[in-house]
Amino acid sequence: MLGSGSAGNSALVSTSHCHILIDGGLSARQIVVRLEQCGVAPEQLDGLLLTHEHGDHVCGLEVLCRKFAIPIYCNSQTAEAIRCFGLGEHKNWRIFRTGGEFTICDVLVQSFPVPHDAVEPVGYAFHAGNRGLGFITDLGFPTKMLIERLREVHTLVIETNHDEKLLQSDPHRPWPVKQRIMSRHGHLSNAAAASVIEQLLPGKIERVVLGHLSRDCNTPELAISAVRPQMERAGRADLEIFCAITRRFSTDVRKCALLLQWSMTAGLLKESGEHRWSQTAATKIRIRDATEADLPAIVEIHNAAIASGSSTAQLDPVTVEGRREWFRAHSPAQYPIWVADLDSAIGGWLSFREFLPRCAYRGTVELSVYVSEQFRRRGVGRKLLQEAIARGPQLGMHSLVGLIFGHNEPSIALFRVAGFERWGLLPGVARVNQSPRNLTIFGRHV
Ligand SMILES: [Zn+2]
Ligand SMILES: [Zn+2]
Repeated sequence: MLGSGSAGNSALVSTSHCHILIDGGLSARQIVVRLEQCGVAPEQLDGLLLTHEHGDHVCGLEVLCRKFAIPIYCNSQTAEAIRCFGLGEHKNWRIFRTGGEFTICDVLVQSFPVPHDAVEPVGYAFHAGNRGLGFITDLGFPTKMLIERLREVHTLVIETNHDEKLLQSDPHRPWPVKQRIMSRHGHLSNAAAASVIEQLLPGKIERVVLGHLSRDCNTPELAISAVRPQMERAGRADLEIFCAITRRFSTDVRKCALLLQWSMTAGLLKESGEHRWSQTAATKIRIRDATEADLPAIVEIHNAAIASGSSTAQLDPVTVEGRREWFRAHSPAQYPIWVADLDSAIGGWLSFREFLPRCAYRGTVELSVYVSEQFRRRGVGRKLLQEAIARGPQLGMHSLVGLIFGHNEPSIALFRVAGFERWGLLPGVARVNQSPRNLTIFGRHV
C-alpha cells in the first residue's frame, strides 16, 4: 500500500474450465460487477488465490467470502494475518506451503516466495495446456528462484510500481515511506521491472502486462517507455507490452485497479469494465498555434469537460460564437492558444491568460489544458504542458500556474507529472451542483 491514492488489486485467471481470482483488493460489489463483465459469476470461481495480506489486495474479501463460500488458497502465515480482516468465520481454506505446487481444476499453480514487507508474500506461475502465465506484484527485487520459475511463462504480469525520479521528488511522501518503497522489501520501479523482463529473454515470453502503478509516482507512458526501449535493444521489439490502468477516478473506484481476464489457452486479453488495456503504440502529437478554424473543435472539447463537471468552473455549455471574442483576445506571441494535432484530429488544447493585472505578475501566466475524451491517456495533456514549460520563457513567462478543482484528480496527476507543485488551496470557494469545492493552485517556474 502506497497511500490513499494507491489502487487495489484483483485479477482473474481463466481457462475454459477454470476461474481463479487472484487477490480481492476491491470492494466485494465491484469484484462481482467486474467478474460479470468478464462473463463469470462469483459462484463459478474455483478458488481465490492470495499473494499477501496487504489491504490493497484483501480489502474486499470479508464481504465477498461471507456471500460466497469460495475456497481461499494461501500459505499459513497469510491465512493467519487475514483472519483479522473478519475472515475468522470462513471455513473453506486451502493452505499451501510456499514454494509448493498444486492444481485448481486444469490449472497447475506454482507458488514461490517474493521479497516484500508482508508476512509471507508469494508470486505465482500458472500452467494450463502448453501455456504459462507468471504473476508477480509487490516485490522489492527478483530472486534467482523467481526468475527460474518465470522462464517457462508466455505472459508475465509484473508490477511497475513507480518511476524512481517521480518517487524521489514526490513532495507528499515522507522520506521513510519512500525508503520503504525503494527497499529490497518494497516495490519494483519501472527500471527494475524492465531488468526482470530482460532476464527472461530470449525465453518463451511473448507479452508482459505492467501493473500496480503508483497513481502519484507513475504513469502508463512512463512505465511503458522504461520497458520498451530495453526490449528493443535486447532484440525483442516483438514483445507485446500492455499496461493495466484505472480509467476513472472516484472514491469507490479508487480502490480498484486491475481486473484482467486472461485466457491461457486462447492467449487473449480482454478489455473489461472500468479498465482497459493501453497498448503501447506511440501517438504522434504535434502542438501548433490554434487558428480560428479550430474553434469548433476547441469548443466541443471544452463542452465535454463542462458536462463532466469536474474539470472546469464553467457550468453551462459554450458556443462557437460565444467564444470568438475570447479566442481573438489571444495571439501566438502573447497568451497563445495551442492545439494538439493527432491523426488529423484535435486531441486537446491549451490556453494561457493573464494571472493578475499588476505589472509585477507580468511573467506569471495561468494556463488551462483540456483533452478530448476520445484521446485520453495518449500523452496529449502531458505534451501540451511540456511545450508550455519549454516555450514559456521565449514568451516572456517565468511562472506557470494552473487552477484545478481539488477533486479533479486526473488533472492534478497530470500537472504533478509535469513537475508542478501544489502552491495553494482555497477551500470551498466554488459551488458545483450546490456542493462546495476546493480550488487548488498548481505552479512551477520555467
Ligand atoms: Zn499492493
Ligand atoms: Zn503489498
